[in-house]
Amino acid sequence: AVSVRGLHKNYGPIEVLRDVDLDVAAGETVCVLGRSGSGKSTLLKCLNLLEPPSFGEIRISGTEITGTRVDVDAVRTRVGMVFQHFNLFPHLSVLKNVTAALRHVRRLDRDTAEAAAMTQLERLGLAHLAHQRPGRLSGGQQQRVAIARALAVEPEVMLFDEATSALDPELVKDVLDVMRTLATSGMTMLAVTHEIGFAREVADRVVFMDEGRVAETGPARATLDHPETPRLRDFLARVL
Ligand code: ATP
Ligand code: MG
Repeated sequence: AVSVRGLHKNYGPIEVLRDVDLDVAAGETVCVLGRSGSGKSTLLKCLNLLEPPSFGEIRISGTEITGTRVDVDAVRTRVGMVFQHFNLFPHLSVLKNVTAALRHVRRLDRDTAEAAAMTQLERLGLAHLAHQRPGRLSGGQQQRVAIARALAVEPEVMLFDEATSALDPELVKDVLDVMRTLATSGMTMLAVTHEIGFAREVADRVVFMDEGRVAETGPARATLDHPETPRLRDFLARVL
């Protein structure tokens, strides 16, 4: 579970997150929507401490991660993240991309790490690509490798930041299917997405960010079909 209270993030004088409160229950999937610049990526980055929050409290499964004596690597093991541009290591094989985190963060020996990585790659239908470099793969395959890499360390929470935005349209479905399966299997997930259909079908709840605030939140279907705020209504009219 994720709990956020009074989260603020400033870049110099610019307030990017302004008093964000958010709860994601264990096993829940929340989709985060909002215009460009509304603070969606910054919110996700604060949740795994890729960006240090300016004020406020974040708890992952009850443990505060915003204190002063926090082990950032341990937090990133518990909160996995998948980005728009995959961020795979181009010079390493698919298998090595997945084992890297297991060896360096989890400190597993090589054989144990490779076995765990192969299990994860098999689960996502990528085992036959284990010895290829990422550059030989399609965008959809690369993104699934990135998901396998994040899942390999067995995080409690998964964050997806526009995981399908850089993909050719015909490859989007493969990645959304993986996300849907993960959501159904009980993973706790926060996904920034412009795929309103996916949000409506898969998310338990949606959060609409506007100018660094949570402007509206509620059950996915009801909120998307009957938005209460003019800002969300306007946003949906533009993207649908
Ligand atoms: P998009 O839909 O375009 O990805 P977003 O909702 O994810 O947008 P953020 O990337 O969180 O928005 O950015 C929110 C605001 O913070 C923007 O005004 C952006 O310019 C600013 N910002 C983001 N990162 C930094 C940074 N490292 N330094 C300064 N300003 C930043
Ligand atoms: Mg963003």
